[in-house]
Amino acid sequence: MTKLYDLIIIGAGPSGTSCAYNIKRLNPGARVLLLDKAEFPRYKPCGGGVSPEVANYLDFDLKPAIDSVCDTVVMVANGQEITADKYPLWMVRREKFDNYLLSKVKDKGVEFKHSVEVQDIITTNETPTVITSIGEFQAKIVIIAEGGRGKLAKKLGYAAKNTILAAMEYEHYTAESDGKLYIDFDYNDSGYAWNFPKSDGLSLGIGGFVKGKEKGKVGLPHKLLNYTKQFSVNELDKKNLHGHPILLYSGRQKLVHNRVMLIGEIAGCVDPLTAEGIRPAIKSGFLAAKVINYALAKNDFKSLVNYDLAFHKEIGSDFYYARIMSYFLNKNLKRVLPMLTSARAVNAFMSVFSGKSTYHEKINWRRIGKLIWKSIF
Ligand SMILES: Cc1cc2nc3c(=O)[nH]c(=O)nc-3n(C[C@H](O)[C@H](O)[C@H](O)COP(=O)(O)OP(=O)(O)OC[C@H]3O[C@@H](n4cnc5c(N)ncnc54)[C@H](O)[C@@H]3O)c2cc1C
Repeated sequence: MTKLYDLIIIGAGPSGTSCAYNIKRLNPGARVLLLDKAEFPRYKPCGGGVSPEVANYLDFDLKPAIDSVCDTVVMVANGQEITADKYPLWMVRREKFDNYLLSKVKDKGVEFKHSVEVQDIITTNETPTVITSIGEFQAKIVIIAEGGRGKLAKKLGYAAKNTILAAMEYEHYTAESDGKLYIDFDYNDSGYAWNFPKSDGLSLGIGGFVKGKEKGKVGLPHKLLNYTKQFSVNELDKKNLHGHPILLYSGRQKLVHNRVMLIGEIAGCVDPLTAEGIRPAIKSGFLAAKVINYALAKNDFKSLVNYDLAFHKEIGSDFYYARIMSYFLNKNLKRVLPMLTSARAVNAFMSVFSGKSTYHEKINWRRIGKLIWKSIF
């Protein structure tokens, strides 16, 4: 007979491990299975900028997972540099960060299986069955935390309709870095380039919106190379160059489908303005764990829909403002950019990114009105 788990989580990125960890914190007796198709530690294309606010959702010491702390952010637009240095951000290498979170999950007694690809979820019975490359598993609740490249949610018809940002990351290993984080709008008409410093190098990248039927990398490698030259990176070695889509938040979506739930990036849980996905992923895992704990304790699986409400209240409602700004930035970058790259605006962004405040606190409807005006006239 197939073993019945309380919870199966598909994907051991920050959303999956946060959910696994928090459910065991709330209910140490819960039988939790975490599956990932990769072998850990695994590389994940990512700038690795993390808001220190994640510590609110994980009750263990995160220091061992942090590569360095960056307290100077330089925003570049039309050749002008604006510096913000009041809001430190953590810099992480994802292979180390994700593996550290996973080690904490294993310490809590979660069963983890690597190199196991989930191929399907059968939802016709009351308890969903997870079909994998090594056999079938059954659980009372299944979480899909498969990230931006996941195929399962789509296959099941649960995929949220998210705006896609095409992104490209290049890892440059060097001892030479000024330790500053750069965000530069001068290298892509529909996005920006970045340089996130690490103790052993630079994570360089570029992202751009995929519009209409545009597919693929929208010329990103070429644009990225133009950008990296200023940091003496004159060639992009293919083995350190990684393309990856980012699924940005695009409005309220249904994330609970009976006993199957979506968390992290596959739920569109990425800031639509900055493309920050790690903190929201960890927060969505935390929110889901609270709802699941209640459902298991009360044997009330209808209550899982409370995750939809919590997601909207705690994450989506603030992303709403970011979405408006992102929309107008994307519509008319040249005209709107000066409004978003003043010293005041850059400091406001950084206070939001670092978790010190929310978009809701930092912008008001008068400013949004100005944004709309600027983008049109
Ligand atoms: C180029 C780039 C730069 C970025 N920079 C930043 C940044 O600086 N700061 C920031 O906050 N965010 C950044 N992001 C976004 C951030 O990386 C993601 O939003 C975040 O990793 C999402 O976490 P997740 O847990 O949802 O998914 P992921 O971290 O993608 O993890 C998903 C996991 O699911 C597994 N999986 C997928 N399908 C299956 C399957 N069928 N069976 C089993 N396992 C499966 C995968 O192997 C993977 O381990 C960046 C993204 C990109 C692409």
